[in-house]
Amino acid sequence: MDDEQNIPTPSPIEVIKDNSNYLRGTINESLADPLTGGMQPIDQVLIKFHGTYQQQDRDLDEERKHQKLEPLYSFLIRVRVPAGVTTPEQWLAMDSLSEEYGDKTLKLTTRQAFQFHGVLKRNLKKTIQEINKSLLDTIAACGDVNRNVMCSANPFESPIHAEVADDGRKISAYLTPQTNAYHEIWLDGKLVEGGEKEEEPLYGKLYLPRKFKTAIAIPPRNDSDVLSNDLGFIAIVDGEKLIGYNLTVGGGMAYTFGNKETYPRVADVVGYLSKDKIVNVSEAVLVFQRDHGNRSERKNARLKYTVDRLGLDFFKAELKRTHGVILEPNREYKFDSMGDKYGWIQSTDGLWHYTVFVEGGKLVDKNGYLAKTAIREIAQIHKGTFILTGNQNVVIAQVSATQKPLIEKILKKFKIINASAISLLRQNSIACAALPYCGLAFAEAERYLPTLIDKLDKILEVNDLLQTPISIRMTGCPNGCGRPFLAEIGFVGRAPGIYNLYLGASFTGERLNKLYVEMVNEDQIIEILSPILQHYAQSRTKDEHFGDFVIRKGYVKATTAGKYFHA
Ligand code: SF4
Repeated sequence: MDDEQNIPTPSPIEVIKDNSNYLRGTINESLADPLTGGMQPIDQVLIKFHGTYQQQDRDLDEERKHQKLEPLYSFLIRVRVPAGVTTPEQWLAMDSLSEEYGDKTLKLTTRQAFQFHGVLKRNLKKTIQEINKSLLDTIAACGDVNRNVMCSANPFESPIHAEVADDGRKISAYLTPQTNAYHEIWLDGKLVEGGEKEEEPLYGKLYLPRKFKTAIAIPPRNDSDVLSNDLGFIAIVDGEKLIGYNLTVGGGMAYTFGNKETYPRVADVVGYLSKDKIVNVSEAVLVFQRDHGNRSERKNARLKYTVDRLGLDFFKAELKRTHGVILEPNREYKFDSMGDKYGWIQSTDGLWHYTVFVEGGKLVDKNGYLAKTAIREIAQIHKGTFILTGNQNVVIAQVSATQKPLIEKILKKFKIINASAISLLRQNSIACAALPYCGLAFAEAERYLPTLIDKLDKILEVNDLLQTPISIRMTGCPNGCGRPFLAEIGFVGRAPGIYNLYLGASFTGERLNKLYVEMVNEDQIIEILSPILQHYAQSRTKDEHFGDFVIRKGYVKATTAGKYFHA
């Protein structure tokens, strides 16, 4: 703290942003350095704003150390897909890039984005260029900016879904950073050294204090997990007409083990606005966080902490002062689930849409299950679109009645999992990437959760719960990329094979869970959950969800607000 002026000392990341000349830094020099597969530390921070993270293959760390080699550095690239909609051509381009430059897998993220893993530095620029050629990009997919804007999964389900997706794209376009650095560095635009003296009209040179996530949901489905976002909108429909949105603010998942000043938080639903105001209100909320967010302590920098620190009355007053926003009282809405509707549905225009279950969002050909090849074959004949969902699945959308049998034939040929044949626990599962690439992971997530669910399914079978919807999510650390604190059964990695177990979230994404037991291994997890699930099977009331049951029976207390998560 500077005593004289009482101005908090900015965090080191703020200093890096300040000195970066609008995110240029020395990224070009780092890319050109042949002596290492990594980037300079400062550039590792800046490349996040360009949609890529430096990672290392932790499976190989020991062996590489033994050989006196630096870790095997590679890069995650996240492709921004506003509202999750891509064309078959874009799908094929992403598929081909993952084969040529990535680790041959395509990760479908919990924010409706594509993620490549294992891209080597020498291929980073080529890959980003190819992504842009396909008319997708990676700018602002990571970093202290507004990230990929999520929407309820299928914009073709009804005209209202289409309108909402369109609003999502408008927000995304408006909140995208304006710096030319991205084009200069990755797309061979000119002017790298020093760059031009442009300004970011909205962000300024410090951008936001922390990442900023936005989503829109259309009740009754909360498939975008809207309340886990900094900024959210709940569509309000009157008859057949989208009239406006309830605004939600201050959601976020991450916390830090051992630091009770940090906590996940479900967003507050703060008021109603008419549809035409959505972009202005988005800007107002972003500006509020830009100007009032904590820039000295990154662990307390998300909007959720700003809102708790300054209060909702001040927040609303600032929205009015800076952007003339006057919110009306919330309108009524009701969520019934967070998951996807699997299999075929038909939209009001007569077209068909098939949601494919992708376990952990990992599309890969493995152990004779050729899911990636199957979707590629479909993309080669498909005339509609693909939609990435917030639950890590993919919708083969806008299929005509004529094409439907052809697509069904391919799904059948590759024995693509029919979601109706798997437990509703697995259908409602999410896992983050975690090991081997994520440097923050304490434990496995996407590579392990399927095995754990195999074991839990056995308990469910005995108790006749296989067709009872229960949400389960696992992440390798408490950063919360897989939104584990909104799962009825949540796991967060503590050490290899060891997890914290959280219980008691609502099935609709409106209440956080709570820590039930710390540091348990697989045997203990099974031992702990078996009697609770049995109890649930025997004593639940009609339509009672598991998360509500464990609260009613006193296994955990309800978490009524983020700040009480640890209480
Ligand atoms: Fe990595 Fe943690 Fe995010 Fe999982 S939740 S991907 S382990 S940062």
